[in-house]
Amino acid sequence: MMTRTQLLIGLTFLVACSPQRTVVETPAPPAPVVTTPAPVGSDEAALSQMGVDAVLWQSTSAEADWIYRQGYAFAKQKLDANMSGSDARPTAVIVDIDETVLDNSPYQVNAIQRERTFDQADWKVWTDKASAKACPGALEFLEHAKSKGCTVFYITNRDVRERASTLKNLTDLGFPFADEAHVLLMDGASDKTERRAMVGATHRIVLLVGDQLRDFDERFKDRSADYGRGVAATMADSLSKYFVLLPNPMYGTYRDVIQGKGPDAEKRQRTKAWFKSNTY
Ligand SMILES: [Mg+2]
Repeated sequence: MMTRTQLLIGLTFLVACSPQRTVVETPAPPAPVVTTPAPVGSDEAALSQMGVDAVLWQSTSAEADWIYRQGYAFAKQKLDANMSGSDARPTAVIVDIDETVLDNSPYQVNAIQRERTFDQADWKVWTDKASAKACPGALEFLEHAKSKGCTVFYITNRDVRERASTLKNLTDLGFPFADEAHVLLMDGASDKTERRAMVGATHRIVLLVGDQLRDFDERFKDRSADYGRGVAATMADSLSKYFVLLPNPMYGTYRDVIQGKGPDAEKRQRTKAWFKSNTY
């Protein structure tokens, strides 16, 4: 039997020899990943599963893939047409990031797998990986814009704390202008108007591309009448000339308008209520 003293000496020796005593630069521990599924029958699980078709479509369908390619081919034509002009200011194109140039469907697939709804800490674990793939056609389009002498600005509602990982992800994929001066993240408000105005102060904006109409104009936040479809009608001319919309059924203002904010139980209730009130 080992005596208490022998045991202490042994432990001291082990600690002294432990590689952990070596001073090394270690990165901060990653945020905890929520790996456990939501409780069976919970509102979160039910709400999460409502998104199954949308996530399947976005992450696997040839239709989604082609709509992106089609959208970016259209964007190229529009950019070329809008580049001509007598304005002496340098030209710029503004793109959103999520579901516009970076594909986050793996995050959504993972959330469905765990029957979880969106969670900011969980989302940051994903963006910290800086491993999102480029949306189909995005890279070729932005390379084309650059070759035409057009500066690229990325206006995103990723949080400023996600700056380093976002820049890394974009740079690793070869996106042009992927630096601090051209990637404008969210610092408080989700309204992109001010950031668009900043770009507009020094550049002639020839085109915007996004997966949400709010990537073009904040007035699309108001969906009180006919889910905002009338707002699009009033802006048809400028939308047609200066904006290309990409598909994203997985999340967005369209859904927020039905589900509202607050606990999952309330969102679930409002979604059910919408279906109940729209029977034929
Ligand atoms: Mg987006």
